[in-house]
Amino acid sequence: MPGGLTHPAGTLRRVPPDHLDEDADPAELAARLRAEIDHHDRRYYELDDPEVSDAEYDALVRRLHALEQDHPELATADSPTRRVSGTVSAQFAPVEHLVPMMSLENAVSFEELQAWGDRLTRRVREASSFVCELKIDGVAMSLRYEQGRYTRAATRGNGRVGEDVTENVRTIAAVPDRLEGDVPELLEVRGEVYMPVSAFDELNRRQAESGGRTFANPRNSAAGSLRQKDPAVTASRELSLFVYQLGAVEGGPPLRTHTETLELLASLGLPVNPEIRTVGTLDEVHERCRHWLEHRHDLDYEIDGVVVKVDDLALRDELGSTSKAPRWAIAYKFPPEERTTKLRDIMVSIGRTGKATPFAQLEPVFVGGSTVQQATLHNEDQVRAKDVRPGDTVIVRKAGDVIPEVVKPVLGERPPGLAPWAFPTSCPRCGEPLRRLESESDTFCVNVDCPSQRRARIEHFASRGAMDIEGLGERTAVLLLDRGLVADPGDLYRLTLDDLRTLDGFADVSARKLLEAIDASRSRPLANLLFGLNIRHLGAAGAAVLARAFGTLDRIVAASEEELAATEGVGPVIAASVAGFFALERNREVVEKLRVAGVDFGRVEVPTLPQVLAGRSVVVTGTLERYSREQAEDAILARGGRSPGSVSSRTAAVVAGAEPGQAKLNRATELGIPVLDEAGFERLLETGEIPAPPEPTAG
Ligand code: NAD
Repeated sequence: MPGGLTHPAGTLRRVPPDHLDEDADPAELAARLRAEIDHHDRRYYELDDPEVSDAEYDALVRRLHALEQDHPELATADSPTRRVSGTVSAQFAPVEHLVPMMSLENAVSFEELQAWGDRLTRRVREASSFVCELKIDGVAMSLRYEQGRYTRAATRGNGRVGEDVTENVRTIAAVPDRLEGDVPELLEVRGEVYMPVSAFDELNRRQAESGGRTFANPRNSAAGSLRQKDPAVTASRELSLFVYQLGAVEGGPPLRTHTETLELLASLGLPVNPEIRTVGTLDEVHERCRHWLEHRHDLDYEIDGVVVKVDDLALRDELGSTSKAPRWAIAYKFPPEERTTKLRDIMVSIGRTGKATPFAQLEPVFVGGSTVQQATLHNEDQVRAKDVRPGDTVIVRKAGDVIPEVVKPVLGERPPGLAPWAFPTSCPRCGEPLRRLESESDTFCVNVDCPSQRRARIEHFASRGAMDIEGLGERTAVLLLDRGLVADPGDLYRLTLDDLRTLDGFADVSARKLLEAIDASRSRPLANLLFGLNIRHLGAAGAAVLARAFGTLDRIVAASEEELAATEGVGPVIAASVAGFFALERNREVVEKLRVAGVDFGRVEVPTLPQVLAGRSVVVTGTLERYSREQAEDAILARGGRSPGSVSSRTAAVVAGAEPGQAKLNRATELGIPVLDEAGFERLLETGEIPAPPEPTAG
């Protein structure tokens, strides 16, 4: 069975992109596209488990962008076309970037690169040179050096606030502890942490051998290796780094071009990619893109395109940035690679919530840098829409080097009389009926005791976003269940050294290690425990909100559906699902087992930013320049405040950007609540000070 074919933890009812009707009402279409994009963001950034290829994801964002251009009134400030996507996990301390870390505009053809060049010329003037860099497919990182000493590393997070991974990044051999030469007093340098392909292959081989989790691609494994609580684990993972950009800088030599910047970075002892070239024209840029398209797999690291940057720093300043990306750079993204192979069979795997996912068994084919034998087909409608049949020759691609995907059958090569594939009516594992819920595209095995579901639930409980039990992957979960050693996650804590030693492939050392990992998981944060319990619709973000609001698992178990739904950030669907989950005797039994085992029920992560807004609510309306709506709300939450959608007598302040909601402003004036502009908002975030309110209006 392929790993990662579990039920999405998202809360949105999604509409497959092919069903996004072009004739639909534009507002509705925009809302659907945003819901679709949000869903994939959650899969990609929170779960490290994307469902679609990067190319498909990019196509959705492009479609939304085009729609917003045709209907500017639909372009909200928090649209994914206007903000940097990504999340900040509560597992790590937040770090505010001195200069925001942005995304990149992208082009998928030379015409689009040319159009970008034309826009630059129209806006300011023609650029006389460009720097062509490889687009390293890793994890964006900001490193800070003070007086030449390494002091901090943070992920991109939501662009303004990232996650503190200083100690983990310190273990990377390519990261110098001290800079040499003409050292600026303060240097925030941006780059990409990546895992060489050879190290990735070796890591996956080791993981498979020890029954641990294997990773989908080097990018995911670099991300997973960085998000470790224990830097020793990161240290064992052979990561590397290339730097390509400055963030904040104080002191150091004056710089006129990006080329000089890169030379400076190299002279300080930082790793700069050797393939970077400065060229004079867009034709030469095109040539570099063509070259790398052909030679991308010659490198021992993955690249997904070429980043083109204006060289002249003064011109860059004039061009500036949008709220999402700089105007002076663009990423040429490689088109997905495609190959044909034989579709041997279509099978169905059962995930932790019982979701039955069809997947293709392929004749092995080398595509996108690795050999592919299986590819998800998502659901019944997708199989029907693609009309792929066992025995077909099919086109396979691994777009963005993320997930292998069957694109379509080669009809000209279909053997005569090949029958269409029919979705099974009973679960291939337990034989109970499969049921497709009305108005949903997914089919479920309804037997909660189905061995496949049990296995997937154990695996999920042990996964990184949940209890993070290193060494407990699919293989070990199967062994434990088959031997009758565990039936649910609560049983894991009863395992003894003797139990584990008898498992296939386990020796004394590996058994001891697994036991230690299980033991360590007793003190995970409440949010992780809650997420690990595998409650339908409750993702990592929802679990974090509930953990913060209720403080202990017992209070969540005891809460009514209404109390849960009254929590800011928890919708009625999640509330009903959580209440329904704990209403079941069998689930409460698992909770009791966990309690007896000494699992911590009340570890809520202590926020590290000063809680200057503790207990106060701040309403945001209109478009801010430096914050998307989500970022503004995150900034308020991170300081202990709340950000509800409407103004009431309990509102402490209203922050108004461009085109604010008039009703909100009127209400604020009526109630005498201070209205702040963006500068006032930033002061508020820093100090928690709210200026004196205006006099309330009469009546
Ligand atoms: P992006 O990845 O297209 O470009 C920005 C990033 O490129 C930077 O943050 C940096 O990390 C990286 N980069 C690598 N080499 C660089 C260089 N030399 N110079 C500058 N930057 C360099 O955009 P994004 O906003 O980071 O992420 C969005 C992308 O993530 C999408 O385009 C999509 O491909 C992927 N994504 C996929 C899914 C999915 O479901 N498949 C979901 C969300 C996002």
